[in-house]
Amino acid sequence: MACMSVLTRDEAQTRAQLLDVHRYTVALDLTTGDETFESLTVIRFAARTGADTFVELKPAELRSVVLDGENLDPGTLDDNRLPLKNLTAGEHELRITASMRYSRTGEGMHRFTDPADGETYVYTQMFMDDVQRVFAAFDQPDLKAVFELSVTAPEGWTVLANGITEHLGEGRWTAAPTPLISTYLVAVAAGPWHSVRTEHRDLPFGIHCRRSLAPHLDADADEILDVTRACFDRYHEKFEEPYPFDSYDQAFVPEFNAGAMENPGLVTFRDDFVYRSAVTDTERQTRAMVIAHEMAHMWFGDLVTLRWWDDIWLNESFAEYMGYQTTAEATRFTDSWTEFGVVRKAWGYDATSAPPPTPSPRRTSRIPPPRSSTSTASPTPRAPPRSASW
Ligand SMILES: [Zn+2]
Repeated sequence: MACMSVLTRDEAQTRAQLLDVHRYTVALDLTTGDETFESLTVIRFAARTGADTFVELKPAELRSVVLDGENLDPGTLDDNRLPLKNLTAGEHELRITASMRYSRTGEGMHRFTDPADGETYVYTQMFMDDVQRVFAAFDQPDLKAVFELSVTAPEGWTVLANGITEHLGEGRWTAAPTPLISTYLVAVAAGPWHSVRTEHRDLPFGIHCRRSLAPHLDADADEILDVTRACFDRYHEKFEEPYPFDSYDQAFVPEFNAGAMENPGLVTFRDDFVYRSAVTDTERQTRAMVIAHEMAHMWFGDLVTLRWWDDIWLNESFAEYMGYQTTAEATRFTDSWTEFGVVRKAWGYDATSAPPPTPSPRRTSRIPPPRSSTSTASPTPRAPPRSASW
C-alpha cells in the first residue's frame, strides 16, 4: 500500500535554497461530477542551480505533465511526488493537468450536500499539506508565491477565494491574484452560499453560510460584523501595518474538521458558530474571540509566515494572545481573559505536562472545536487537545 511521503525539514530547506517560486495559475472545474474535479496548474519558478527536485500532487488521475514545453511521463509520479530531474538553472514553467478527488474528511476539497435542502457546497482546507489534494504545488510554507485562481462552477453558485472574485458568466469565476502567500493558505469555497455583505475601510467584507442556515446567520449578522469591524480597527491601531489583502470574507462551512482556519481574505469557520438555538453569552464571546484570533493571523501567520512547522507554537500562541486581548479591548466582551484563565490556561498546563509530540507531522486540528453542545461533527476528541493551538 502506498504511503504518502511526508516532506522533511531537511528536504524543505534544500528545496527552498534551490527554487524561487513566482506564480501559480490554477484552474479548477467543479462541474465534472460528484467524485472528482479537474485541476490545471501552471507554476512559474526559477532554479538557482541545476539540480533534481520534485513537486507534490495527490491526484485521482494525473493526465499530463509539461515542463518548459516538453512532455514528462505522468507514470513517474511516486506516491505524492513528481520528480523534476536534471532541472537547469533559470526560469521554468511547469504545467500539470489532473483529476482530483473531493474529500469527505475536511482535507483538501471537501464536498457536502445539505440534507436540509439538497444543495451542494465545496470548500478547501489546505493546512498542513493538503493543497496537494487540490492542485500541484511545491508544498512548504516558505516557498511563497502569487496565486491566480479561476473556477468553473455550476450555475447559481458563488465562488469565494482569497482575492476578490468576479463572475464572468456561465459559471466561470476568477479571483484577483494574491500577494505572496504560502501554499497552505490558499482557499476556495463554492456553492449557493447565503451571504451578508458590507464594506469597511473601503474593503469588501462578507459573511457566508449554507442556505439552510440563512435565518440564523441573519439573526446574528450585526453582532458578527460589529465584532469583525471593531477588531479590524483595533489591529490597525496596534500593528500600524495596513491589512495586507483585498477583502475580508468569513465563511461558516459545513463539516469543518477544525474550529477555524486563517486563510488570507477568506477565513473558514465550522458552521456550529452559526447558532441555531439560544446560547450563552460565553458562547458568543468564544465566537468573538475566534474571529479576533483568525484576524490576527492575517498579519502574523499570513503576511509574515513561519519558515517551518516547528514555529507553529509561536504562530498560534501569538494569535491566541492577540485574540483574547483584542476581544477584551475592542468588543463588548471585556472580560474575555476570564475564559482564558478558566479554560484555555488549563489546556496549556495539560500540553506542557504531556510527553513531547511524536515526530510525525500528520495533522492535528488547526483549531479545536468550540466547546458548545452543538459541536457534533468534529472528529476531534472532547478531551483538551494535545496541541495548544487555535
Ligand atoms: Zn490560529
